[in-house]
Amino acid sequence: MPPSQPRALAVEPAVLTILGDAVRLGGQCEVGGLLVGRRDDDAWRLTAFAALDNLATEPRSRFRFDPIAFAQAVAQTERRGLSWLGFAHSHPHGPAQPSAIDRVEAWRHCLQGIAAARTDGSFEVTFWWADEYGMHRVPFTVTAMELRP
Ligand SMILES: [Zn+2]
Repeated sequence: MPPSQPRALAVEPAVLTILGDAVRLGGQCEVGGLLVGRRDDDAWRLTAFAALDNLATEPRSRFRFDPIAFAQAVAQTERRGLSWLGFAHSHPHGPAQPSAIDRVEAWRHCLQGIAAARTDGSFEVTFWWADEYGMHRVPFTVTAMELRP
């Protein structure tokens, strides 16, 4: 059975920093990659973002990645004891909402992060869950990692 939408999503502050840097470096082109972290039943913790090269022929409005690079990144994630939780991609021209293309093409039953640049140089991140009924906003909190004994 595929995972169901997380009840709670906690995001490490570093993930947002790394995503913001990727959006800025991408300039007018979309950037994207894997969202990585831990699943404790339906409470998920996002701990990392791993960028993938954008191979789209229209990179200003699309994000496409190499499936082999994706599989290798997932394997690397699992070797580190983490789980692949979904994808994030940017909207260099905003907004931080799923586009018509996203609503049709987003992979189902995984987290979808959208990072949108604002005109002042800052950016906004939203998270979504796609299933057969559409894309649903996933609220999140930004919290630093808990240290466990
Ligand atoms: Zn999009």
